[in-house]
Amino acid sequence: MSLESTTQPLVRIDGLQKYFWENDSILDRLFGNDPVPVRAVDGVSLDIHQGETLGLVGESGCGKSTMGETLLRLQEPTDGRVEFDGQNVYELSGDELTAFRHDAQVVFQDPFSSLDPRMTIGETVRQPLDVHDIGSETERDERVADLLERVGLSADQLDRYPHEFSGGQRQRIGIARALALEPEFMVLDEPTSALDVSVQAQVLNLLDDLQDEFDLTYLLISHDLSVVRHVCDRVAVMYLGEIVEVRPVDELFTEPKHPYTKALLESVPRASTDERKRDRETLTGDVPSPRDPPSGCRFRTRCPMVIPPEDMDIEQETYRELMHLRERVENRDLSLASVGDEGQFETDNGGVPDADVPAFVAALKARLLETELPPRHDAIVEEALAELADENWEAAAERLRTAYESVCERDNPSLGDGAHSVACHLHGVASERPSEPDSWT
Ligand code: SF4
Repeated sequence: MSLESTTQPLVRIDGLQKYFWENDSILDRLFGNDPVPVRAVDGVSLDIHQGETLGLVGESGCGKSTMGETLLRLQEPTDGRVEFDGQNVYELSGDELTAFRHDAQVVFQDPFSSLDPRMTIGETVRQPLDVHDIGSETERDERVADLLERVGLSADQLDRYPHEFSGGQRQRIGIARALALEPEFMVLDEPTSALDVSVQAQVLNLLDDLQDEFDLTYLLISHDLSVVRHVCDRVAVMYLGEIVEVRPVDELFTEPKHPYTKALLESVPRASTDERKRDRETLTGDVPSPRDPPSGCRFRTRCPMVIPPEDMDIEQETYRELMHLRERVENRDLSLASVGDEGQFETDNGGVPDADVPAFVAALKARLLETELPPRHDAIVEEALAELADENWEAAAERLRTAYESVCERDNPSLGDGAHSVACHLHGVASERPSEPDSWT
């Protein structure tokens, strides 16, 4: 599947959002609880070019499948626009909507549950033709037999049921059904993840052949980077509902730019012993909740390259530790009562006595920080922690915020235009890009 991405976009996605709402029951409305949106897809803009295979990758739960379903209008969007062949998909109705349903199809992940066990495979593949009333009875029968042959099955198997087939064969049946209406565009949602490795290759080769034969455009959703590398022309990387990098496949795999893409690629198992032995920067920390994504860059809570304030000379590891400390102070996620030996610091009667504050700060610092701080940062942290001796949480948080707030927290980097787009402040417009400290290289 090799095709230049300079051809016309068949699909144009612009600012697509899909939110799911929680706290929206009758009781919640009665008690006036505000609905909380789960931001599954949050402002995605992307072109998919005629004849290409665009890979969409990211960890589970990042919004890949929801994006595929929303752009096919299997789910209604919260906001945004999707154009297919120049028409706004969400404004289609009647014959135009029917035509779109012909032209844009989906192949699902699970070949075991996506087929009706009560229908023969002939009926399954024929169903879309019946629903859309296409051709005569004889023409439909001929088309179904032809499709089964095209996907490597036999027309003699028409009257058999799904349970009589292997996983790979069932996925072929799903592909034949998707092809029945002669689509231009197919969303392939993890089409091989439920299959054995040997069968995966057969199904991927089949999809490749069919793309050439039927001039198809694919959006391949996958968490399997080796599959993506093998079959895609370009790749879009998704994190917490946003696209963070879009690049031609070879560039993405040889020169990833976004720290998240780098970490994803690092997580791919290595074949050689040497490769396995080398230091790898794998992803740490949990993916934040899409109900409450971090401010600024959504990857900042896990990013190993967060940009410190300008002119601050600080090791990344130390900076991350200070950010974590600040987060705990902001969230009041510390027990002051347990600082020092039991009962050492009485805070019940208006705070720690002045004479005990230095010891209180030292005990708290020892508990919270593993790294020995350079003197300048040590002084800032001590000032902030001294505020906690009076349980003055907001003043402590403000002191740390003023000193350590990052551009990565303030501004959400935009993806930019073109085929080589990266949403990261390290890769912005050259004149605005912060220089990378030596410790990051
Ligand atoms: S914007 Fe900042 S936090 Fe986000 S990926 Fe780039 S360096 Fe990391």
